[in-house]
Amino acid sequence: MSSIPVPHSAHSDDRGEWRKSKAEERNLLLSTFGSENLHWGNIDWAVVGWMFLMHAGALVAIVGLFTPYRSALFNWQSFAVMLFLHWFTCSFGVTMTLHRYLSHRSMKLRTPAKYVGLMAATLAGEGTPLHWSAVHRIHHQKADQPGDPHSPSEGNWWSHILWTFTGRDSRLRPVMYQHFVPDLVKDKSMWFFEKAFTPVLFGSALALYLIGGWPMFLWGMCVRLVFAYHSTWFVNSVTHVWGYRTYDTGDLSRNLWWVAILAYGEGWHNNHHAYPRLARAGHKWWEIDPTWMLISGLRLIGQAYDVDDRLPEDLPVTKAGDDTLKQLRSQAGNPPVPPLEAV
Ligand SMILES: [Zn+2]
Ligand SMILES: [Zn+2]
Repeated sequence: MSSIPVPHSAHSDDRGEWRKSKAEERNLLLSTFGSENLHWGNIDWAVVGWMFLMHAGALVAIVGLFTPYRSALFNWQSFAVMLFLHWFTCSFGVTMTLHRYLSHRSMKLRTPAKYVGLMAATLAGEGTPLHWSAVHRIHHQKADQPGDPHSPSEGNWWSHILWTFTGRDSRLRPVMYQHFVPDLVKDKSMWFFEKAFTPVLFGSALALYLIGGWPMFLWGMCVRLVFAYHSTWFVNSVTHVWGYRTYDTGDLSRNLWWVAILAYGEGWHNNHHAYPRLARAGHKWWEIDPTWMLISGLRLIGQAYDVDDRLPEDLPVTKAGDDTLKQLRSQAGNPPVPPLEAV
């Protein structure tokens, strides 16, 4: 169910009628991101159900540690798998591949790092690579303004988790991709992972259960996902509320050390809003950025190249409202970003 004014039928005639102009299409899409769209008639029950199950599993796993069922629900192998998969999916997958590689094109990746990264991102369960990147580019372009998918100016809980519960007409998805990730849709592998997202996610849950029973499923899937979800959501919620500002970006973004620890360097969020295309988010020596370390390691072995490794001296600050697609191309000293299929 959706409250947006689109035709009930998906026939092409109706779509033609619906799509008056590119600007109207874009405005219609952006209007679906406000918190007023979340109400009982417009809830994405698949997301709500998934989040409920993962949180329930994580709760059972952690409470189970203090019960007589501990040995049936926990072992150290499962804990080690949880730690490894957390780093692999959250850092290799989300913070490096989805965020710095796809959303901001801060570097290029060679095979196999690119495909390993896309698989890690899919296993992170935060939506498909195209969808994640499109939503994130909208966030940068509309940061803390109407159209921002998750600004705390519409409520702290909204920016943290509630925004993910909002229903959206599936016919708006191609509109979102055309407007915000036109460079990424040219890459066939993006469409493979678009289709593979749900089977891979459910398949990984089944595989963990078959490999290590309930402890492996509860810790390797539920606890790991819930921990990673909240770590990355803190970037949307907490680092637009608490912390210090180094740059005047015109939005609410802040730098916060403990979010940087939990989210592999993404807590240096004011730095990132000021210079979204730079591959490193930590700009001072003590702003430790594990995702930058990962990118540097991949560059060392030749898997990452054309890394935008500048520090921001003499570069203009990006302001809230600047066009994100132009940001990809226009920062001083950068050559135009080539089409992704050439990467
Ligand atoms: Zn932000
Ligand atoms: Zn970003």
